[in-house]
Amino acid sequence: MELDLWWLLLFPAFFGLGWFAARIDMRTVLKQAKSIPDGFFQGLDALVEDKTDVAARSLAEVTRQQTSTPELQYTLGKLYRKRGENDKAIHLHQQMLETPDLNTEQRDIILFELAQDFHKAGLVDRAEEILLKLLDGHKGLLARQQLLNIYQQDRDWHKAISTAKELRSDAHSFQHEVAQFYCELAQRELYQSHISEARHHVAEAITANRKCVRASLIMGDIEFSAGQMEAAISAWQEIEKQNYEYLSMAAERLFDAYEQLDKPLEGIALLRGYQKTFPQLELTDLVYQKIATYEGEEKALEATREAVHARPNLHGIYRLIEAQMDILSPEGRLDAEVARALILKHAQRLSVHRCKCCNFRSRAFFWHCPACGEWESFTPNRSEAQ
Ligand SMILES: [Zn+2]
Repeated sequence: MELDLWWLLLFPAFFGLGWFAARIDMRTVLKQAKSIPDGFFQGLDALVEDKTDVAARSLAEVTRQQTSTPELQYTLGKLYRKRGENDKAIHLHQQMLETPDLNTEQRDIILFELAQDFHKAGLVDRAEEILLKLLDGHKGLLARQQLLNIYQQDRDWHKAISTAKELRSDAHSFQHEVAQFYCELAQRELYQSHISEARHHVAEAITANRKCVRASLIMGDIEFSAGQMEAAISAWQEIEKQNYEYLSMAAERLFDAYEQLDKPLEGIALLRGYQKTFPQLELTDLVYQKIATYEGEEKALEATREAVHARPNLHGIYRLIEAQMDILSPEGRLDAEVARALILKHAQRLSVHRCKCCNFRSRAFFWHCPACGEWESFTPNRSEAQ
């Protein structure tokens, strides 16, 4: 077998080229580094160390020396905002606006930063005023997104709807959010007993997103408050097709409607049917209570046992232990009490709703996550964390 040995000579040549390239690169870096003031590196180092106060001081010193570096001033402004020093950020950006010969693009960038300063400082009207002027410029998209945040924060749902519709694109249709904004309006009208306005907004929500569970929940509430029990039941049953996980949120209301119709046993049968078909729903306690009221403790316990055997859950096991306390020996009762207390403690600790986007946990359910601002991201069943 013949080997072309001359190929081997290429290896040292490649290494030589690599070494040469690295030398050139390092020289450029060193040359550039010499022109950067020390304060910049001190600021950078403090940022890495999470000492934002030192970083802000160092970068402020550099920007005083080098007024021709707007990028650094933007960073300093963001740092001030992050530290809650909104007055300093506002002052910095207002000063930057006074720089002579600013072109439209530079002006828009500074104004957008200033709007964010005002927003962070709670001066929402001033932020909105600036953002509205930026809509047709270079920062149009970002300004509109920021306005949408402001309108949601202000619960100004009409403006939120029109802004979200303007933001629609192939990448993000905003249908999901728009439906939620209409639901907020519907809920507000329902609280004030404005039934026809509430119906109108729910219809808009369904038009925006036919899978909007919240719209069905509110529709059922509207019918219930209007005394239309059959209509309320069919509105809540829509959830089964939209997203069955939310049925647990409608379960008690569904039962109340059957009770109003004087058909509690039909209500119980429906809930037990849901429990069998969707064992992950949080229905054990509710089903137990309703059966105990209308059919007696024994049947309630039987239903709980059936549910726990199909899908073990802490609340169900707690009920089973509690129901059998009386038939135990005194020693056995002491043991059962320890187990019951431990189960209750764990059940309470694990009974939380969780945001699927940011993992924020809360005992209360939110349609709009208070931590990350996402809509409909909370798990409807608290026991999902088990
Ligand atoms: Zn979240």
